[in-house]
Amino acid sequence: MKKKVYLIYTGGTIGMTNTVNGYAPKKGFLQQEMADIKALSSSEMPHYTLNEYEPLLDSSNISVREWIKIARDIRDHYEDYDGFVILHGTDTMAYTASALSFMLEGLAKPVILTGSQIPLCEIRNDARDNLITALLLAGNYDIKEVCLFFGTTLLRGNRSTKVSASGLSAFESPNDQPLGTAGVDIIVDKARAFACEESTLKLFEFTEQQIAVLKIFPGIQPEIFDNIITTKLKGLVIEAFGSGNIPSTDGRLQEIFKRAADNGTVIVVCTQCLRGGAVIGEYEASKGLADAGAISGYDMTVEAAVAKLYYLLSKGYDSSQIRELMQTDLRGEITRGKSDSVGEIRRRKTDLLEEIKSAEVNI
Ligand code: ASP
Repeated sequence: MKKKVYLIYTGGTIGMTNTVNGYAPKKGFLQQEMADIKALSSSEMPHYTLNEYEPLLDSSNISVREWIKIARDIRDHYEDYDGFVILHGTDTMAYTASALSFMLEGLAKPVILTGSQIPLCEIRNDARDNLITALLLAGNYDIKEVCLFFGTTLLRGNRSTKVSASGLSAFESPNDQPLGTAGVDIIVDKARAFACEESTLKLFEFTEQQIAVLKIFPGIQPEIFDNIITTKLKGLVIEAFGSGNIPSTDGRLQEIFKRAADNGTVIVVCTQCLRGGAVIGEYEASKGLADAGAISGYDMTVEAAVAKLYYLLSKGYDSSQIRELMQTDLRGEITRGKSDSVGEIRRRKTDLLEEIKSAEVNI
């Protein structure tokens, strides 16, 4: 029996047309373009149903409301389809992929986000292949999580990030191997498949949350942020230098973060580097963050950290639960074993030294 895929078009370059103001989405245009792609009606392709959203959006305009709309649409059609493809603008695709990975609790079917850098209407485009491969992945492969397919790689959605504004391999998961590749053959790495404890889909809807992202740069004037550090701010993601460092000599930033923490704001530190992670305590220059009660985001992308904050804050957990869960792997978004924390490494070193000492005594 032919597999069935539910295809959602939210907007984005893939289905845009050329207007006097530049590329813009147009009602019905994607469907018209798809009708010209013979391969889509091939017997090898799954059967698909297209739901074009109204209004079609450039993904810069996608927010919590649209995440909920997409997630509800998947929930409402979950039993009737084998998989789901979401056509989405590339600019915020990694945020939507991360958000859906948390919202769709107990997901046991493929949800594949894709889009393109060049629209279908252009002769030379990446849209056609991305669309066809995403439909094949959603229809024919045993994937039980939210993924992003682009170019030739299948990525875990909440590990992905947009790395190019113009290249056709626009996404990477910098701290995680791809889940699959589409070369001559489509290969999905089964060993790396995410295993969800629950297998009944339950939609958890985010609510709007007061969250901020702050990128640290040399010469940053902490006083500029005075106005955002209020009791209203529930979560703050800091994009710190390297492995989690901030300017520390005058203590001004630390003071601001301390005030945020005293207000109950959960402060998560990610790295502004593409690869690697933030581990507070590795350098003295991160002490200010430790003293302010900030937590390490380890190798989470900023997109995943933001989505996870939405998730945990919307669940209504208190700040100590959120701090703990932010550092716990919930959907494969973080590489986190006990062994990763600096404190744990130091503890192991001390234990080892103790062992050596007592062994020496016994000799
Ligand atoms: N601005 C577009 C969007 O994100 C870019 C794209 O789709 O590639 O909707």
